[in-house]
Amino acid sequence: MNLILLGPPGAGKGTQAVQVAATMGLAHVATGDMFRDNARAGTNLGRLAQQYMECGELVPDTITIQMLLERLARPDAARGVLLDGFPRTVEQAQALDRALRERKQQVDLVLLIEVSEAEIQKRLALRARTDDAPETISRRLRVYDAQTAPLIAYYDHAGKLRRINGEQAPEAVTHALLAALGRDGQ
Ligand code: ADP
Repeated sequence: MNLILLGPPGAGKGTQAVQVAATMGLAHVATGDMFRDNARAGTNLGRLAQQYMECGELVPDTITIQMLLERLARPDAARGVLLDGFPRTVEQAQALDRALRERKQQVDLVLLIEVSEAEIQKRLALRARTDDAPETISRRLRVYDAQTAPLIAYYDHAGKLRRINGEQAPEAVTHALLAALGRDGQ
């Protein structure tokens, strides 16, 4: 089973992804974490990605897609993945569809964590990550609306989208996500 967690920055994708991946026995693949790990390790990829992350822009598709495909080729991804932060553009979604189709798999469900813009502003202002400076926050939200939000229609069209209310306590969000996956009692 391959799942996508979709939602604006600050929706709580990272926190939820860890829980859901563990419960579902899926590999948690977070492209933001991968870029940050690379930046910390000082790799070429990390240095490049950092320039985009710092100003709230997306890392270019070719680079991001290549990194993701390499990650999917690792053995632990064969049993299924929970994608957190990928895809973020329609081009990335199409590349993912092609890669999964080649291995006779597919995106099974897309869980959209919905949070209002006012709540996101509040949450990101409280978070102290280097890409959470005020100008960067508004840039990231605009980038989400322009480049990532079209994925909602893309997956809704394919009948794969499930909407989850992200403005509840974290445990309630986890419960709602698992319920959408048919894991009610968890
Ligand atoms: P958040 O959890 O706040 O939404 P992430 O940790 O997922 O943020 O991503 C942080 C930054 O990493 C993004 O703002 C972007 O610059 C870069 N990034 C992560 N995933 C992708 C992706 N799929 N495509 C392009 N850039 C990405």
